[in-house]
Amino acid sequence: MPPRLCTACGALAVSRWSKYCAACREIGRQNQKAATSRANQLRWAEWRERGIDPTHGGEAAAKRGAAIRQSNVEKPRRRKDAQ
Ligand SMILES: [Zn+2]
Repeated sequence: MPPRLCTACGALAVSRWSKYCAACREIGRQNQKAATSRANQLRWAEWRERGIDPTHGGEAAAKRGAAIRQSNVEKPRRRKDAQ
């Protein structure tokens, strides 16, 4: 089996199974990381736009839910229906 060449720069690839040489593999890893972080940033921006705050999930959300339930009990919104 002929040695594989890096598909990015044409240098000898690290292994027969790799498409890239060591240098390009490292670049690829970093690009992948950058792409992931970009995707995360986009997701967070979208969440912010929609008013979703993932950091306030879990316990905080449960507390908020309880507070809203309590507030609904104290100030029922359907007072009109009750009359
Ligand atoms: Zn390369």
